[in-house]
Amino acid sequence: MKYRRLGRTGLSVSEVGFGTIPVLRGSVPVLPDYYNLSDEEALAVMGHAFRLGCNLYDTAIVPEYGDAEIKLGKFAARIGREKILISDKARFFDGNEIYLAAKTSCKNMGTWADLYFVHQVDAAHEEAVFQKGGALDALSELKQEGVIRFAGVASHYYDILLRGARDFRVDVLQGSGNLLERGMLERMKAEPLFREKGLLINKVYAAGLLPAYFSVEALLGTVLSYPVSCALIGIGTIGQAQEAFGFHENMGTVPGFDKVLSVLGRDFSPIPCDRCQRCACPRGTEIHTIFRQYQYFYLGKEYWALRKLDMGIEQSAQWCRKCTEMPCLSMCPAKIRIPDEIQKICRLVRVHYPPDSRPDSQGGKSVSDMGNQNPGA
Ligand code: SF4
Ligand code: SF4
Repeated sequence: MKYRRLGRTGLSVSEVGFGTIPVLRGSVPVLPDYYNLSDEEALAVMGHAFRLGCNLYDTAIVPEYGDAEIKLGKFAARIGREKILISDKARFFDGNEIYLAAKTSCKNMGTWADLYFVHQVDAAHEEAVFQKGGALDALSELKQEGVIRFAGVASHYYDILLRGARDFRVDVLQGSGNLLERGMLERMKAEPLFREKGLLINKVYAAGLLPAYFSVEALLGTVLSYPVSCALIGIGTIGQAQEAFGFHENMGTVPGFDKVLSVLGRDFSPIPCDRCQRCACPRGTEIHTIFRQYQYFYLGKEYWALRKLDMGIEQSAQWCRKCTEMPCLSMCPAKIRIPDEIQKICRLVRVHYPPDSRPDSQGGKSVSDMGNQNPGA
């Protein structure tokens, strides 16, 4: 295992970190998967990673990641608290709320958090986080009190991460990326401000979908070829821990983007979008998220992707049909015919997710009837 500098925190972290979602028992609202690890099983998996050199464990407040936070606290007590670094987070944007949440997290774990992130910051909550008295001010206060050591912002949005990179209250950032969705990693690489912060990257396996197509060496090697501190991998078994933490970096295996598209192209026609997030729609259509759900539909999370797409695709398609300027087109370096792709995806949702197939419709099909093949793969 190699170790990397965590921005200016003075900490050194294993370049592969342990994501704790798969050690929880039960299910969490945002994920389709069901997990079933007992405390002892979870601690054994975390211990295996530790013996392979992992020193960073990432979790989130109960119930965001179920009981994973509690299990991590037990593991820290067993292994020796000073031997690992705990990264924790909560989806609260208001200062008072995250202040209480971080204290609850530490109570759940029975120890402090080395890093504490405001979780899933999006445009709707950005101001609440960054404004005076918002979540970041609260995290600064918690640092002074010694409840947490470093404060962070976790987001899937480049502009929000960049704002975090500019903010002196932020020590660490958590973003997402993988060999298919590498556009944001490319932009971070080109922006020196990100070098000042510790940078954790999640979704390296794209919710567990990409290992069906690419080796762990290629997946981890790609993310670690960027100037990031740590690639986080969700781990639920000893075998997964062995694969991720026993990984030997071989930069020769990093596939180019065209190669990635051609490998995926054996099964479907991927949209050549690397999620750089340069396109902006004045109507508010989140183009890169729609394209991501389209890829996920074909990569195996069919039902989950359809449900997410269904939330706004008809409206987006309608806006595109009326849009005369189409400003998104000139913003896309990949020259993707964005409005055409949106119409195509709208048709796909109509075919595969008609109203009478929904679980809440009278006599509708169940989730399994929808052809949801092993969503947790
Ligand atoms: S073509 Fe569609 S996605 Fe592009 S700017 Fe217009 S409404 Fe937005
Ligand atoms: S559609 Fe184009 S500009 Fe938008 S995220 Fe994808 S590659 Fe980037």
